[in-house]
Amino acid sequence: MSENKAPRRRRPATELVHGGSLRSQFGEMSEAIFLTQGFAYETAEAAEARFNGEDPGFIYSRFSNPTVFMFEERMRLLEGAVAARATASGMAAVTAALVSMLKAGDHVVAAKALFSSCLYVVEELLPRFGVTSTLVDGTDLNQWRDAVKPNTKAFFLESPTNPTLEVIDIAEVAKIAHEAGARLVVDNVFATPIWQSPIALGADIVVYSATKHIDGQGRVLGGIILSADQSYIDDHLHNFLRQTGPSLSPFNAWVLLKGLETMEVRVQRQTSSAARIADVIAAHPKVSKLIYPGRADHPQADIVKKQMRAGSTLIAFEVDGGKEAAFRVASALEIVKISNNLGDAKSLITHPSTTTHQRLSEEARLGYGITQGMLRLSIGLEDPEDLVEDISLALDQA
Ligand SMILES: *Cc1c(COP(=O)(O)O)cnc(C)c1O
Repeated sequence: MSENKAPRRRRPATELVHGGSLRSQFGEMSEAIFLTQGFAYETAEAAEARFNGEDPGFIYSRFSNPTVFMFEERMRLLEGAVAARATASGMAAVTAALVSMLKAGDHVVAAKALFSSCLYVVEELLPRFGVTSTLVDGTDLNQWRDAVKPNTKAFFLESPTNPTLEVIDIAEVAKIAHEAGARLVVDNVFATPIWQSPIALGADIVVYSATKHIDGQGRVLGGIILSADQSYIDDHLHNFLRQTGPSLSPFNAWVLLKGLETMEVRVQRQTSSAARIADVIAAHPKVSKLIYPGRADHPQADIVKKQMRAGSTLIAFEVDGGKEAAFRVASALEIVKISNNLGDAKSLITHPSTTTHQRLSEEARLGYGITQGMLRLSIGLEDPEDLVEDISLALDQA
C-alpha cells in the first residue's frame, strides 16, 4: 500500500476528500473496505518484527485496520491533532478518553450540562472505581477554579451543550485545567470540526460521536478520540483500546470516510438554513425563548464569536403551554421527523424532557434549563423554505 505524499498542510476541505487515503496495488479510487480481523505474515520473522514494533504494519483489527486507519488519519489532519483513535460509538470514545487516563483517587471536574450518557459516566461509572467528580456550571469560570483539588486530573466539557446550546469558553477553561495540571477533554459534537477546533483553543483531547455530522446520514455508529499530545496516546489510550476492544468496524469506518468527503458542504448548508429558521422561530408569537449560537441574543454571543467560525446546525426553543404545546408542535410537523439523532440530512425534532433527558428528575432538568416546553431542532438538507413552512404551520398549533 502506498500513502498519499502530503508534506504540505492542506486546507480542511481538501483533507476531507484526500486526507489519510491509502491505495492497494489495484490503485482503487474509492477507499477500500478491509473487512478482515487479522493479517498474514510471510515468515515467522516478519510476524516477530510486526509484534516488536520494528515493522509498523497491521496486526489485528481490534486495534489497527487499514480502513479504520484512513478514517483516523483524515480526522487527525482535519483537527490538527497529533494522533487519533476511532471507537465503536461516541460513548465508547468518551468512556475510553476518560477511563484510560484515570485511576482510583483521581478527581474530574465536568460541566454539568452534558449529554446524558456522558453524565452517567462522570456521575455514576467513574465513582464506582474511586474517581470522584465535581459538576460545575460550565459558563462560570470561577466554578471551574473553585472545583480544582490537588488530585484533579481531568476537565470535561461539551460546547455548545445538549440541548440548551450554552457555550463555554474553551481557551479560558483550558488555562485553568493546565494550571491545575489536568487535561481538558472537549466533546465537540455540537460544534462539529467544521466550526470549532478545540485543540487550537488549548484543549488536550477532543472526542466525537461520528454518528452525528460525520456520518451525517443516520447510517452507522462511530466515535473518535483526538489528542494534542503523543504521551496521552502512548501512556494511556493506545493500550486501553488495544486490550479492552471498543473497536470501530472497518465497514463503519468506510461509511464515515465517505461521510467526511461531504461533511463541509453539508454542515455549511445545514447551518445557513438553521440561521434562517432560527429567526423565523424567534419571531413566532407562541415562542417564549430561542437559543441559537449565531444570533446576537445568544447568552454567550461574545464567546461564540471568539471560538466558533459559525453558528450551529441545531436550534433550541421553548413554546408557551409546556409539554402539551410542545407535543402538538412536534406531532404537527410533516417534513421534520421526531427522532433523537442529530446532524442528519433529515431535519429532526426532539422533546428532551421526555426522551434524551427523561432519566433526570424534573428538578435536575430545570437546573439545566430543560423545561417541558423546550424542543431541540436539528436542521437537515431539505430546502430551507419547505422547512420554514413546515415549522411555521406546526408552531401555529402550539
Ligand atoms: C450522540 C452524542 C454522544 C454519544 O454518541 P453515540 O455515537 O450515540 O454513542 C456523546 N456526546 C454528544 C454531545 C452527543 O451528541
